[in-house]
Amino acid sequence: MDNYSINTKCVQAGYRPGNGEPRQIPIIQSTTFKYDTSEDMGKLFDLEASGYFYTRLQNPTNDYVAAKIAALEGGKAAMLTSSGQAANFFALFNICECGSHIVASSSIYGGTFNLISVTMAKMGIEVTFVSPTASEEELNAAFKENTRAMFGETIANPALTVLDIEKFAKVAHAHGVPLIVDNTFPTPVNCRPIEWGADIVTHSTTKYMDGHGAAVGGCIVDSGNFDWMAHADKYPGLCTPDESYHGITYAEKFGKEGAFITKCTSQLMRDFGCIQSPQHAFILNLGLESLHVRMPRHVENGQAVAEYLEKHPKITKVNYSGLPSDPYYSVAQKYLPNGGCGVVSFEIEGGRAAAEKFMKALKLAAIETHVADARTCCLNPATSTHRQMSEEQLIEAGVPAGLVRMSCGLEDKADLIADLEQALAQV
Ligand SMILES: *Cc1c(COP(=O)(O)O)cnc(C)c1O
Repeated sequence: MDNYSINTKCVQAGYRPGNGEPRQIPIIQSTTFKYDTSEDMGKLFDLEASGYFYTRLQNPTNDYVAAKIAALEGGKAAMLTSSGQAANFFALFNICECGSHIVASSSIYGGTFNLISVTMAKMGIEVTFVSPTASEEELNAAFKENTRAMFGETIANPALTVLDIEKFAKVAHAHGVPLIVDNTFPTPVNCRPIEWGADIVTHSTTKYMDGHGAAVGGCIVDSGNFDWMAHADKYPGLCTPDESYHGITYAEKFGKEGAFITKCTSQLMRDFGCIQSPQHAFILNLGLESLHVRMPRHVENGQAVAEYLEKHPKITKVNYSGLPSDPYYSVAQKYLPNGGCGVVSFEIEGGRAAAEKFMKALKLAAIETHVADARTCCLNPATSTHRQMSEEQLIEAGVPAGLVRMSCGLEDKADLIADLEQALAQV
């Protein structure tokens, strides 16, 4: 499939049925797999042969869909996880351990911010947050002897800042560390971080990839570019024998292209079990089949709504990287030439109270803790997803208390704008 365009890959990459086989991906609804001899099965446990033995670690339906996402991102290997949270946790914990340090953009999803700053801190993993607009010197200064990963979001949820991926990758690589990029919002249709130097890409497939608000899921894609063995002192988990797998050294046995995902599957999936159900993988694939058709419409609606809001007298600020007035416009022109996504955020004159009144008055847009599906929805992050944050942390994350995040769905943009118009008239 390599030579086909991303549009064709959305439809057909991953699962390639043979003669007489089902056209649609089969849902392998089985927890276990049968073998003729114990010896056959033993080879799987020793990672001497590849195959399936238990769906807590791997399932063929999931692997077909993961292979499609790897093809879309231009990666070498991928795995599905039960959620986006699991994907980001696994991507980081696969190369970090107690005593490690992470450099992360401060402008990231609230759940990921909490995962890194609170839960991973309890595991003895430290973090230094940096501004997504930090200079190279400032980024360099955040690194320590024990830094093992750098993390950011292509388009941050909900701050909508755009990451300078090339700059972050350059600094990460200068310190011998991989850059992990959460590419949930643009999806590979609008940006492929690996082409700009990212080493690992993560997704909450719950969002645009599924696109219908039907199935929670996540994905990790490895570019296969990071040379773990060249930094073996930093990554003993990949570069020294794994006693829990009979002394296999992942980076040696599976090379740059296979080590990360193999270790993540055989250790973290085995021990934490955050597998996506094959049913969800099937639903996710239905979404992927139209991703390239849906993303341009999400962008068209987002752009139209952002332009409308920017001119409205009751709106004090609009964040959307497709607006020339947006501070991230020029970065977005570079990384997101076809637009970013359908999510727009804005502040209404009158702060939190006005935002609440406005949201209540909307008829098409529902209030939901969700973004990035076919139906338009909105949210006040300060009272929901970002509830744990202090006022200072909210400002630092680019999410002031009166901010409304609106996810433009696939409806007609004229109807969306008419809905905004009548709701703003009531504020
Ligand atoms: C939603 C989201 C997550 C978390 O994903 P879940 O599927 O809800 O666990 C992570 N990163 C980003 C950018 C998100 O939007």
